Amino acid sequence: MTVWQLDVTVESGTLAGVTDGMPLIAKVATSVSKTAAALSRAAGRGDGSVIGGWIGLKIDPDLLAHLAAGRAVALVSGTNGKTTTTRFTAAAVGVLGRVATNGYGANMPTGHTSALAKEGHTPFAVLEVDEHYLGQVIDQTKPQVVALLNLSRDQLDRAKEVAMMAQMWKIKLASHPEIKVIANADDPLVVWAASGSPQTTWFSAGQRWLDDSFVCPESGHAIERAQGDWWCTGCPLRRPRPSWMVEDGGVFDPDGVWHLVQLQLPGRVNIGNAATALAVAAEFGVRPIDGVRTLKQVASIAGRYAQVDKDGRNLRLLLAKNPASWLEAFDMADQVPTLLSINARDPDGLDTSWLWDVDFAPLRDRPVLITGDRAFDLAVRLQVNQVQFRHVQTFDEALRSVPPGRLEVIANYTAFQDIRAELDRVN
Ligand SMILES: [Zn+2]
Repeated sequence: MTVWQLDVTVESGTLAGVTDGMPLIAKVATSVSKTAAALSRAAGRGDGSVIGGWIGLKIDPDLLAHLAAGRAVALVSGTNGKTTTTRFTAAAVGVLGRVATNGYGANMPTGHTSALAKEGHTPFAVLEVDEHYLGQVIDQTKPQVVALLNLSRDQLDRAKEVAMMAQMWKIKLASHPEIKVIANADDPLVVWAASGSPQTTWFSAGQRWLDDSFVCPESGHAIERAQGDWWCTGCPLRRPRPSWMVEDGGVFDPDGVWHLVQLQLPGRVNIGNAATALAVAAEFGVRPIDGVRTLKQVASIAGRYAQVDKDGRNLRLLLAKNPASWLEAFDMADQVPTLLSINARDPDGLDTSWLWDVDFAPLRDRPVLITGDRAFDLAVRLQVNQVQFRHVQTFDEALRSVPPGRLEVIANYTAFQDIRAELDRVN
């Protein structure tokens, strides 16, 4: 406690710009939150964004609302692509002025609180939000814009069933007609969730994973698909006409102007994320022609998509957390030796039965290595899927097992963090 009290005094002078007009308790909470985050960073315990926000919210439960007040806020939520889309959106909105953002994926209210406290007063905030917390964060931050990317199965032991999640979103958004919603026209669950909002702009970024949307969330009838279109066979729910569309490596804006999207990040999915970011930024007044230029600055995000040279091997790191994101990873991965690493620790979800939802057949044409706490769960899956593989005990053994040259690394959440740690926490 002594340290906090000391730093509150020291920092309160410099915080005037952030906390003007806030209640005293919010000022104190902001200061302590920043101090705790700084102490956590100094102690080498990550970037401090969770502990700082946690302490701040203990002192002032309304701290997030206090910190968000006076900023133009955009929230980005969905099962996959949140972190990348948030980073792209923050880059594009940055054309207009300073942006506070939780750029490293701390996507619960503790992370939002810390991000806003750390950045000080900014005209804009772009926040990635865990899909379970979207309603709560809408209430606290009063966003102008909410982007809904997709909904699919994730963390089977604790996540809500996807249709329940869509319903939560639908009810919350219907009670906030002032919010501009940017929503994925290709995902029936997202379309249904956004269908009660009077101000919705639709984007089309494609949907590779279809297994969670064969049944209409409104009527329970089958959903049919043809040539990119989809419709319910029993009620009026169908794909809305999108204003923003991905085509030929670029994006059509609502005026029908096509913009080439040049990214450092791989895959069609990231062009979709870029389109979403441009649509969100446009709500704040960013012209697509200006926003699109900022996107190629984004190189890698907390190690995701990072390329690293080690021991003569050139590695690329791909994070894949759930069946939909594994499909995207296979789409991005080149036909070179590939290391798969699977853990099932708390942040990953403890249930690995999702491995059986993934078709690993795209890996049959390349050397595959497997590792991680739950490599043997993966081994059984790969054997049934007729994918040849070799088990390695450690990341170093994996490196020694492949010839000099390229190595794709695909890992789920904590397995990814373990590998990132082996590479000196590459960003
Ligand atoms: Zn229906």
